[in-house]
Order: sequence, then structure tokens, then C-alpha cells
Amino acid sequence: AKSAGSGVFRHFVEDMEHNACIRRTLEIDLGNAIQNNEFELYYQPQIDLHTMKICGAEALIRWNHPTRGQVLPDEFIPVAEKIGLIVPIGNWVLKQACKEALNWPDSINVAVNVSCVQFGNVGMLGVDLLQEVKLALEQSGLPAHRLELEMTETAIMDDVDKSCAVLRDLKQLGVTTAIDDFGTGYSSLQYLRSFQFDHLKIDRSFVSHIETDVDALSIARTIVALGRTMGILSTAEGVETKAQLEIVKEIGCDKVQGYHYAKPCSVENFRSYINTFSKS
Ligand code: C2E
Ligand code: CA
Ligand code: CA
Ligand code: CA
Repeated sequence: AKSAGSGVFRHFVEDMEHNACIRRTLEIDLGNAIQNNEFELYYQPQIDLHTMKICGAEALIRWNHPTRGQVLPDEFIPVAEKIGLIVPIGNWVLKQACKEALNWPDSINVAVNVSCVQFGNVGMLGVDLLQEVKLALEQSGLPAHRLELEMTETAIMDDVDKSCAVLRDLKQLGVTTAIDDFGTGYSSLQYLRSFQFDHLKIDRSFVSHIETDVDALSIARTIVALGRTMGILSTAEGVETKAQLEIVKEIGCDKVQGYHYAKPCSVENFRSYINTFSKS
């Protein structure tokens, strides 16, 4: 039994070393990815449920790794946040999204995800989200009202006073804001009151159970109603089926996003999607 135990332990250590090695490689590769032009933005359409037209797209980063192929953000964004690389990556995303959105019809906005680190909430010196947003708008010529910034409650919670100031400045600049993954944080209601968001995005975990779970349905219904009384528009995230679409429409969501309409795709494919959608 003893030798088996040490065997397990040896494997455990080897695994840890192996994982640490993968992590280091990932960090090194990430450091070179911007200058090697390995990042790309995918776009997922957002549909206005009142007009049934495309009203925007969320920019979702993809990493075209030279040997690993496409790497998804859930794998590298947390690493980039940990080592501070999210700041240059986030700035690249802002610039690229504004530049690409300028080629779309004026009625189609672009939404960009912003990490808590970009808020400068974790003691990073020299992080200035407001300046970076200004720069991206100026360099691209995109009108501020066509840019939306998506952030989670967790991002704002880190330093409430600072976030409050940053959000106020951003609003003054004319960009809009959305609270992402709404309903999954632990103090949603207080934050709705303190910050004046334009949109809230109902988390996919509610939407995907909306047909089968009455509690998920009640929560979604309540979120929409709450948003409405506060002048905040609701977007249902992760709508995959016709039935889910009908329900979120019925409970009064203003917008939808999800595989039912389209998966995130390259900017070229998004532009063809715009064309075919407007003809259908
Ligand atoms: P998120 O902001 O909540 O983005 C929505 C995620 O759900 C995307 O995953 C999208 O592809 C996926 N999704 C959309 N519709 C559906 C659906 O109908 N069904 C299912 N199963 N999934 C759906 P993705 O692109 O892998 O991004 C994951 C997360 O990575 C994002 O979650 C966001 O937190 C982060 N992320 C992506 N791009 C950026 C970025 O440029 N900057 C930062 N800071 N974070 C980013
Ligand atoms: Ca998002
Ligand atoms: Ca989300
Ligand atoms: Ca999420």
C-alpha cells in the first residue's frame, strides 16, 4: 500500500510540474501574441426584439496560436489577468473593435468586454481605461455612442468608489455600459442602484433553464421587470432554441444573443451575416 501511495504522489508531483510547465509556456506565448498578430476578434450578433433587427455585436477574442490552433478566451484571459498582460490585450481589443465596427451600418453597435484589471482596481499603476477608450474612439473615428463596455459585477466590486468615478467619466464620454452575467454575482441589486448601466445581460445559466425550471423563469422575469423600472434594457444571453426565444420575448427582454441566431464568427462572416439578415 505504501509503495502505491508514493507512486500516486510521484504522479501527482509530475502532473503539477507538467501543468506548471504548460502554464509557463502559455505565459511566454501570450507575451508575444500581440506583436505576432495572433489575436482576432469574433463577433456575435445581438438582435433587437422590438424591431427584429441586428442592433449590435459582442466582440469575443480568439487566439490563433501557431501550433495549438484556436485558443478560447476562458483558457488565456485568466492567465493574462494574472500576469498583467490583459491591459495591452484589452487595449488592442478596444482599438480593433472600434476600427472594425466603423465598417458596419450605423445602427449596429459594438460591445467589448472589459476586465477588472483594466479598471485599475488591483493596484496596477498606469492603467487608464478612460484614456484608452478615448484613444480607440479617436483613432477609429467611431462615434462614442456606438461603443458599449461590458463588465461583470466582480470587476466593479473590487473598488467601488474608483469604479463609480470611472463609470461616470465613461458615461460623460458617451459610451454605453452593460453589466454582464447578471444574476450570478452576490450583490446585484445594490450595484444596479449605484451605477447607472444602460443594459443588463441576463446570464445564460437562467436562459438555458427557462423552459424547464420555473425558478429560472421567475428570476429572468424579475430581472427584466427590475431593469425596466430603473430604465435599464435587458439582453438575454445564450438563447439557443426557438422556445427560449419565444419565452424571453414574452417576458419583455429587449435584446437577445445566442446560438439560435448565430455563433460568434470572424468579422468577414459577420459582415455577410448582416447582409443576409437584412434581406431575410
Ligand atoms: P461572456 O462575456 O459571458 O461571453 C459569452 C460567451 O458565451 C462567449 O464565449 C460566447 O461564445 C458564448 N455563447 C454565446 N451564445 C451562446 C449560446 O447560445 N450557447 C452557449 N453554450 N454559449 C454561448 P467565449 O467567446 O468563449 O468567451 C468566454 C468569455 O471570455 C466571455 O464570456 C468573456 O468573459 C471572456 N472574453 C471574451 N473576449 C474577451 C475580451 O476581449 N476581453 C476580456 N476581458 N474578456 C473576454
Ligand atoms: Ca460579455
Ligand atoms: Ca455574459
Ligand atoms: Ca461569462
